[in-house]
Amino acid sequence: MLASGGLRRFSSMEKSKSSRDSTTALYAVQCGKCFKWRLIPTKEEYDAIRESFIEDPWFCEKNPEVSCDDPADIEYDTSRLWVIDKPNIPKTPPNTERNLHLRKDFSKFDITYIMPNGKRVRSSTEVERFLEAHPGYKDQFSVSDFSFTSPKIMEEMVPKSSRGKDSVGRKRKNEDG
Ligand SMILES: [Zn+2]
Repeated sequence: MLASGGLRRFSSMEKSKSSRDSTTALYAVQCGKCFKWRLIPTKEEYDAIRESFIEDPWFCEKNPEVSCDDPADIEYDTSRLWVIDKPNIPKTPPNTERNLHLRKDFSKFDITYIMPNGKRVRSSTEVERFLEAHPGYKDQFSVSDFSFTSPKIMEEMVPKSSRGKDSVGRKRKNEDG
């Protein structure tokens, strides 16, 4: 079942591989009227839609080249790892980089930001400390510009071998290869 007006991205990560860092390859948004999935060409555009998704939901008519009568750009299926983004995540502040790292047990993503000086932060508390230590950045961004909320991972995407195990961190032996 799909939530209406969803906002999702999905990853190029193949489900059989246990690579920790998944690369988001494609971004998709669901039309709030016809519920078809439309691909969003760039991360910047996707970020902009996501930033105000609750106040400003997305419809096909926002894209002049497409209408609700056209077939969907992509169908939701289980061949890729889909994750559901939380709406209204603030736009990544300038000169910083937001990275997602999928946990080995597929339970969640850990979010990190790389600051303009190369320092990595993992929580709002660390952003606060960063701003205390480097007050010069206070006119560029504030703690509320950062979101460490993990996107939701669709349960049916999680490989069976990873499901229900409490042996987090244990290396899987002898993967096919
Ligand atoms: Zn539509």
